[in-house]
Amino acid sequence: MDGSVNNNLSIRRFSSLQDALMEHLGQKTDILRINPVHGGDINDAYMLNLSDGNCLFLKMNGEKDEEFFLREAEGLLAIGNTGRIDVPKLIGYGSDEGKAFLLMEFIRSSPKAPDFHEDFGHKLAAMHLDSCSAYTGFKNFGFISDNYIGGGRQENTPEEKWIVFFREHRLLPQLRLAEGYFDSSSLKAFDRLLERLGDILTEPWKPSLLHGDLWSGNYMTGADGKVVLIDPAVYVGHPEADIAMTELFGGFSRVFYDSYYEVIERIPGYEDRREIYNLYHLLNHLNLFGQTYLSPVLNIIRKFGR
Ligand code: ADP
Repeated sequence: MDGSVNNNLSIRRFSSLQDALMEHLGQKTDILRINPVHGGDINDAYMLNLSDGNCLFLKMNGEKDEEFFLREAEGLLAIGNTGRIDVPKLIGYGSDEGKAFLLMEFIRSSPKAPDFHEDFGHKLAAMHLDSCSAYTGFKNFGFISDNYIGGGRQENTPEEKWIVFFREHRLLPQLRLAEGYFDSSSLKAFDRLLERLGDILTEPWKPSLLHGDLWSGNYMTGADGKVVLIDPAVYVGHPEADIAMTELFGGFSRVFYDSYYEVIERIPGYEDRREIYNLYHLLNHLNLFGQTYLSPVLNIIRKFGR
């Protein structure tokens, strides 16, 4: 992939943080305080308090290059462009003295509106129904560029068929990285699972733009009490893959699912497919964080690779 961006995903690149701040703030605004923000897995994050009473959110990373943040920014823009669900407004990305940075609107975490979960379910469904063909060239699934899932590289080479995409660009790259964890019988089971993938997964009736990493740490509550999505790993895929991820670490509110399924029908057999979709995330966690994730991975491989 050449990494070129579709026009409506273009984001401003700055050659220093100072430039980004000067351009955004102008001469009259100063930074009064810089406070660390905790909760992320990968990057250093900061709240910048400004003399005009506003705040900005800054992510920095000395180990990744700026392309890492460009991909995050493209994902936020793609979600924002649907107009269905809020994301922080972006200011720009770049690198400064060897540290990559991404600068955006600061979301002041607020109390949830009474209909927060209902609204979230409806908005995610609306995003999944939105048109997304601009991101996959002449194919149906994938994205204009590879990006990152947490700290791991995520392949988005476009493909015509969802099941081919999921096998070739989701499960296989993670399996190659994780091979050292498996004995020969587990590897055989994994092969059988991959051969059977067409019997387990289904093609969606329509490709959907996905957040791609939708767990509870990747949404916030905006000033209006409604959902704001952060930290995506977007691509165009089967909407069930986003819903599956929401259920991997405990699940969202029941109301969220009820309102999502009011709009997008729940297709029988989802529980099995959910395990396959989450196998991708569990393998990624195994590759990033190690052994703790081996047993849930093996359980799925053995169940479906018999
Ligand atoms: P990482 O890329 O390291 O996982 P996150 O994007 O998850 O970092 O951000 C770390 C934390 O910062 C989040 O858990 C959230 O609480 C907070 N955060 C993320 N984006 C914003 C934002 N735009 N405004 C305010 N806080 C944010």
